[in-house]
Amino acid sequence: MVKITGYETHDVRFPTSLSGDGTDAMNTDCDYSSAYVTLLTDSDLVGHGMTFTIGRGNDIVIMAIKAVSDRLVGKDTEELFADMGKTWDYMMADPQLRWIGPEKGVIHIASGAVNNAVWDMYARSRQKPLWKLVVDFTPEELVRSAAFRYISDAITKEEALEMLKEKAATKEEREKKVRELGYPAYVTSAGWLGYSDEKVARLTKEAVAAGFNHFKMKVGADQANDLRRGKIIRSIIDDPQYLPAGAKPRDPSGEELHGKNAGPTGAVLMIDANQVWDVNQAIDYVKGLEDIKPWFIEEPTAPDDILGHAAIRKALKPHGIGVATGEHAHNRMVFKQLLQAEAIDVVQIDSCRLAGVSEVLSVLLMAAKFGVPVCPHAGGVGLCEYVIHLSLIDYIAVSGTMDRNVLEFVDHLHEHFIYPCSINSNGRYNVPTNPLEGYSIEMHKPSIAEYEWPHGSYWVEAEAKKRAA
Ligand SMILES: [Mg+2]
Repeated sequence: MVKITGYETHDVRFPTSLSGDGTDAMNTDCDYSSAYVTLLTDSDLVGHGMTFTIGRGNDIVIMAIKAVSDRLVGKDTEELFADMGKTWDYMMADPQLRWIGPEKGVIHIASGAVNNAVWDMYARSRQKPLWKLVVDFTPEELVRSAAFRYISDAITKEEALEMLKEKAATKEEREKKVRELGYPAYVTSAGWLGYSDEKVARLTKEAVAAGFNHFKMKVGADQANDLRRGKIIRSIIDDPQYLPAGAKPRDPSGEELHGKNAGPTGAVLMIDANQVWDVNQAIDYVKGLEDIKPWFIEEPTAPDDILGHAAIRKALKPHGIGVATGEHAHNRMVFKQLLQAEAIDVVQIDSCRLAGVSEVLSVLLMAAKFGVPVCPHAGGVGLCEYVIHLSLIDYIAVSGTMDRNVLEFVDHLHEHFIYPCSINSNGRYNVPTNPLEGYSIEMHKPSIAEYEWPHGSYWVEAEAKKRAA
């Protein structure tokens, strides 16, 4: 019997605000941060997890992680693994902690870090990457692992089981295909708001040359500016001369690109406002960007405003522009309502704003039932490492398709992870294959030592420089 004996936490912050990486209309000076936890046992087995934040407040999440982790100390790991849905319910059900949630805010993202750490430990114990552990589940095991409370009006366990059984026979084919091809990705890092036009143009050309065909740009600070930058990006992605040697343009009216406003080379542009507008303002502003032909507007307004998203979607539909959201949708009930209200064209789950893999599974199941593609949010630090696992689970075991999906990719900070995600020469995520990597979120110890806040070597030096100036 292996028991959880304790945990370690680290408040790790990277000084990304110095370079303008990650800047958008709402978040103007982010220090990408990880509220990191390692669950320890009385054997060699450990489980790593983290939640992403953008700087100040990471210490508050760490405090919450400790409160949530306390409940797991003394637990038998095999008992936890045997019914991950029950484990999730137990983690959510602390009779006192739930008052500062429930299932929202700091306590929920902290629960995400800890639930992910339990899943990481489970995958390591079976010597499989996390995605492989889950796709090898029987349909019954997968349904049992999901967080089902409060969503049975949208999907019942029986319906979920039916859907998974239908897909089970062809899982192997899909696994083989995605191992060969990789999983489709898109690039956000060319279009941060804090970058100059020249930098945007250069990065866009580099992204096209690297094989990407979906690109996202941040908008919402200034419409004329957005139009100008959007036209710069379109002029590059729509021009066949920038395609990688030997690459042919894709058919913009083909099944995979249908309804995405793809240009002549098959390139797709998405835009992201990070919640800056009121509903009517969003509608007017985005109509004004029709010339740059976006597939969707992401996070046009407050992330909790389900009916607002529905109104925006309805108003933009005649203009051929869709709506996406989810990186700030804090639990499965928000996604349930977004789907029920027909408010979104794309589901953008976040791997650690939802409370870990168990809650993600329930959203994947609902999205598949409603026929809406899941394109997870990533970037930040650690998120790309996490989400490739989730998209593989979606493709192989749940929705059965990746033709219209694209997984966000941002090329920052991967070097701090022992098993970093990677992209192949066709602009697609490689499948994580190391049997020891679990959920791929283990950080290098020297990275933690350098960037731990406030006593890591980087922050001590930065403080000394500030004092000397
Ligand atoms: Mg976004």
